[in-house]
Amino acid sequence: MAGSDDGRLTVDDLVAWMFRFDERIAAEADRLTALDSAIGDADHGTNIARGTGAVRKRLADAPPDDAGALLKSSGMALVSTVGGASGSLYGTLFLEMAKSVGPTPELDTAGLADAFRAGVAGVVARGRAEPGDKTMVDALQPAAEALSAAAEGGRPIVESLREAAAAAALGRDATIPLVARKGRASYLGERSADHLDPGATSAAILVQALADARSERIG
Ligand code: ADP
Ligand code: MG
Repeated sequence: MAGSDDGRLTVDDLVAWMFRFDERIAAEADRLTALDSAIGDADHGTNIARGTGAVRKRLADAPPDDAGALLKSSGMALVSTVGGASGSLYGTLFLEMAKSVGPTPELDTAGLADAFRAGVAGVVARGRAEPGDKTMVDALQPAAEALSAAAEGGRPIVESLREAAAAAALGRDATIPLVARKGRASYLGERSADHLDPGATSAAILVQALADARSERIG
């Protein structure tokens, strides 16, 4: 374990995040697809796993030099491979984060919070879903708010990421009773209630993967 926590995310941490995200998505793909079969078209797990696999390959083949390049490369891989509504939305999340951070070698909590807020704003602008519409925004928005609050409170990065992951998980679970107002699930109307939203579930995995990757960093 590191003797001191420098409170930053390096490019290596972000690579570890994407690798961890791919591992978790691969492990959960069948469950994500089962969730999508209840209120969508049974492809979310396969869609997202295709994307995270492509991100992993791209980062391994061409390791980026800075955080902005890494987020951009990941976003481009997601846009071009995921398909479905979630592909362009996850792509937007990463591409907007990339624009926010620019060619920096590392991020502190405030930089990450700004980037995540910009990414989620991009998702909202593109998909027009607000919190409560039963989409990935229900997990992403609380995570962005938790990160911003942690940054304002001057909290260490590991603690900030844990809080963001907990907020995303609560937001994910809160989608269960909701009636979907965006995406395919909205075609079901009231029948979309009493189901966990697949995109909110993968979004909570995304945030948890970052918290885990950073807290388990060695050195
Ligand atoms: P598709 O719905 O095209 O089959 P996926 O199954 O991969 O795409 O992803 C479905 C998920 O995408 C949903 O569970 C929801 O979280 C998210 N989603 C769909 N439409 C929107 C939207 N307009 N805004 C935000 N998220 C959305
Ligand atoms: Mg689907």
